[in-house]
Formats: sequence, C-alpha cells, structure tokens
Amino acid sequence: MASVDETVQVDQVQPNGRGEIPVENPATGEIIARVPNGSAEQVAEAVRRARAAQPIWEAMGFEGRARIFMRAQKWFVDNADRVVETIVAETGKTADDAQLAETGFIAAALGFWAKHAPEYLEDEKIRSSSPFVLGRKLMLRYAPVGVVGVIGPWNYPLTNSFGDCLPALAAGNSVILKPSEVTPLTSLLALEGMRECGVPEDVFQVVTGDGETGAALIDNVDFVMFTGSTRTGKKVMARASETLTPVSLELGGKDPMIVLADADVERAANGAVYYSMQNGGQTCISVERVYVEEPIYDEFVGKVTDKVRALRQGVPHGAGSVDVGAVIFAPQADIVADHVRDAVDKGARVLVGGHAKEGPGRFYEPTVLVDVDHTMKAMTEETFGPTLPIMKVRDEDEAIRLANDSPYGLAASVWTRDNAKGEAIARQIEAGAVCVNDAQLNYVALELPMGGWKASGLGSRHGAGGIRKYTKQQAIMVNRFPMKKDVHMFPYKPRTAKLIGRLVKLVYGRGRRD
Ligand code: NDP
Repeated sequence: MASVDETVQVDQVQPNGRGEIPVENPATGEIIARVPNGSAEQVAEAVRRARAAQPIWEAMGFEGRARIFMRAQKWFVDNADRVVETIVAETGKTADDAQLAETGFIAAALGFWAKHAPEYLEDEKIRSSSPFVLGRKLMLRYAPVGVVGVIGPWNYPLTNSFGDCLPALAAGNSVILKPSEVTPLTSLLALEGMRECGVPEDVFQVVTGDGETGAALIDNVDFVMFTGSTRTGKKVMARASETLTPVSLELGGKDPMIVLADADVERAANGAVYYSMQNGGQTCISVERVYVEEPIYDEFVGKVTDKVRALRQGVPHGAGSVDVGAVIFAPQADIVADHVRDAVDKGARVLVGGHAKEGPGRFYEPTVLVDVDHTMKAMTEETFGPTLPIMKVRDEDEAIRLANDSPYGLAASVWTRDNAKGEAIARQIEAGAVCVNDAQLNYVALELPMGGWKASGLGSRHGAGGIRKYTKQQAIMVNRFPMKKDVHMFPYKPRTAKLIGRLVKLVYGRGRRD
C-alpha cells in the first residue's frame, strides 16, 4: 500500500488547512493516511487559480481535451491495480466491486465523454417559425460555466466523485473536486493520473476536507455537482441559493424491487441478492426492499436465504477473496443496526444475519428480513447496508402502490417473464430509472440519463443532459441582410400597427400550430 502515502503528497492545494483528517481502512480499523482539512481561504484560492486556468483548457477544444482523456483512459487501465488497492484500502469494499464499478466504469466514461462531448455540445442551428426573424441565422451555443465544484460521497470514491468531473472537464470547465473526508485518497490518485496525462496546471484540482470545505466550495464556484444524502443535499441547495449558483443533486434512495408471480424465480433471487449486497449494499441504487407476489413468495425467500447464507464476508485480500466487504462509514453501521432492530421490535423475522460482527474492522452481516411492512424503517428509510427486507404482496397493484409509497424516487426494478407487462409497470413507478429483469445496470449505459425523482435528486448525470448542465446556453442571432430600418422600429405609426395586426391575423388567425 505504498501508493497511499504517495497519493497524499500529490495534493498541493492546501498544505496546512484546518488541521488533518485521518483516513481509516474500515476493514481493518487501521489509520492508513492523513489528509489536509481545507479552509475557506484555501478553497477560494484554488477556485481563483482554476478560473485563471480555464480559458486555456477551453481553447484546447474538444479534440485537445479528448486526447488527454484518452491518455487518462490508458492510465487508468495501466494503473488499475494501484487504483483498486487505494479504493479497497479506504473503503474496505471488495477488489471485485472496485474493479467492476469503479476502475472499469471510469475507463469507459473517459472514452465516452471524449467521443460524445462534441456531439452533445456542438452549436445547434435553430429554425424559427416567427415571421419577424425571417432571414436571420439562429444558433444555440453551449458555453462552459467556468469553474465546477464537485462534492462526492464515500460509497464510490472514484465513480461518484471523479466520474462527475469528467463531463464537466470535457465541456471545457475547470473542476475542483471535494471528495468525502472518509475516502479522499482515490481522488488524490485520480489527480495524479490526470496531471501525468497532461491536464494543464490548476484545471483539475482536489481539495480535501470536511463539510465546511464543501460549503466554501459552493460559495465560490459557478456550478455545484453534489452526490450524497438528501439531508446534506438540502443544505447544499440552500447555501447555493445565496449566490444563485445552479446545482445538480444526486441524493439518497430506497429502491423497490417488484417480483411478479410469472418471474424467473432463480434469476430474480440472484438479482435480489447481488443488487442488495454488492458493494456491501452501499450503492445509491441498491435494491433496498422487495415486494413478491404471493404464489412465488416462499420459493423466492427460500432461494434468497440460501444464497445470502453462502456469501463470504471479511477483509478483502484481492479479487475473489470475499463477496461482501466492510461498512465504509462508522455512523452508517449504527443506522443499519437501528433499522434491523426497529424491524424486529415491530414483528419482523431475521432469516439470515442480523448482527454487527466483532472487530477489528467494521462489518455487518448480510441480512434477510421477512414479515416486514411500512411501519418499519427498514422499508421506508434508506438503510445503505447489506440488508434485504422482503414483503409478500397480493398482486401487482399492491406492489406498485407500496413501491411508490416513499419520499424517494431514485431507481426501481420489475421482474417478470412478460416484458410488455414489466414495461407497463415501469411506467407507473415514480423513479428516475426503472429496469425490467435487471437492476443498477442502467448506470453503465452512459447514454441514458441517471437522476432521481422526488427527494432523490434534482437534474441528472449521463446522456446529453449530464454534460449540458455544465454549460450556459447562449442564443446567437445574426441578421445577414440588415436594412437601414426595420418595420417595427420608431417612430410608431398607426399604419405600421395595422400592418403588423394584419400579419398576425394572417399567420395565426386560423389557429396555426407552430
Ligand atoms: P453526505 O451527504 O453525508 O456527504 C456527501 C458530501 O457532502 C461529502 O463530501 C461531505 O463531506 C459533503 N458535505 C457535508 N456537509 C456539507 C455541507 N454543509 N456543504 C457541502 N458539502 C457538505 O453523504 P455520504 O457521503 O454519507 O454518502 C451517502 C449518501 O449518498 C447516501 O444517501 C446515498 O444514497 C447517496 N448517494 C447518491 C447517489 C446518487 O447517484 N443519487 C450515488 C451515491 C451516493 P464529508 O464527507 O466531509 O462530511
């Protein structure tokens, strides 16, 4: 793990800050590094430098930026082991989770944004139906906002922090990333990689620190991309309102999984176990609750129970060593335990797991709960841990009603052999993304928008909207055949008013649809 110490040294943004933050390996309980706790002054200075550097980056054009992105793609592939080691060291997740959902995702994302940024952001020629602009050239231009602040969570230190920097950079912005204080090392390593690949000085910076550092970033940047809890998301939006800074918020979820009576029960059980326990259940789009139609309920629960019982948990030692890793953030372990306790107090049964493991390290056993209902926190609040509460439902209407009985609306899944029915149900679910016979996988289709409804977010990442949000739209109109004076100009005359009246009547008088 020599790389961890090296990565700390690459951060030159704030050598002194407000003291230091220890970084723990949650799987072992060891302190593996310390990073600076950035002050408001240091953040302001970093933003000032980013602002000064941005025009150079913008002037490099899509082609110049894409060349650096493609070098970075190779860098992440060449350095995959080191990046995975760093992620595993500061999260305690399995190397397999880090490889698939972080290094693999980022390598793909670098190529995606290098290729698609020009397509999403090139000038658009606009045609207008207004007779008043006849002969003019109309264009829509996407200009970078300037300096983007990205504030990230601890569950995916690469994908959900650095990943959101990529479209912002591809659009020609400077970016300052404030990773979670719990998992700053991966971002510092990404910074090292981007510098090696030729990103100009100050165009991409990492400022480590706590919530106060994040708040200072909001005060200074031109756009805030925030991923984290709904509670902090509201604070971010309130803070940004003071400077009228636009925000994009990717927040919490309580993703429902609906298993219909005609589902392939084996696939649904594999899906339920994987998509609830993968990354230790610490994925914003984890399956957090399951509704199963009565006829297959017993079979489904039996299969899920066997599969969860077979999961291996412990300190990850390389790929394939364990299936479920540690609880990354200490307070989250208390929330997981509280949700299980609350469910049991209200009548739920624990079929597998149900306890925190003895240290060293912070682990909560993969847990299956049944006899659950919506009076329990495990069914209504985000647990964000390796738990799978399963509820029996009479029919699909009850499943849809319960799925929508939530303040959240991030993602959902429907499992059925009838794809048409699955799609029809998907359209009735209040969530930003719904999969049929899959879950979570929509995230890797970077062409698709990924964003929460209701309390799960504002705006979206990925797709055209995921990069256009980092731009200011500019309308450009060029009068190619300018006359000395247009008919509507001063002085106002009754004859002109009559003429314009006639024109309006002629064009719109018969209820024309434009
Ligand atoms: P938090 O909301 O606690 O923190 C997110 C980030 O915000 C951290 O970097 C944090 O810093 C920072 N922060 C804290 N307070 C402030 C503040 N007042 N102003 C600005 N920044 C602040 O989230 P977690 O890190 O606990 O992440 C887990 C949550 O993220 C879950 O709810 C999960 O669902 C959600 N999430 C959503 C995703 C989505 O795409 N919708 C994806 C991944 C996670 P510090 O760490 O130092 O406190």
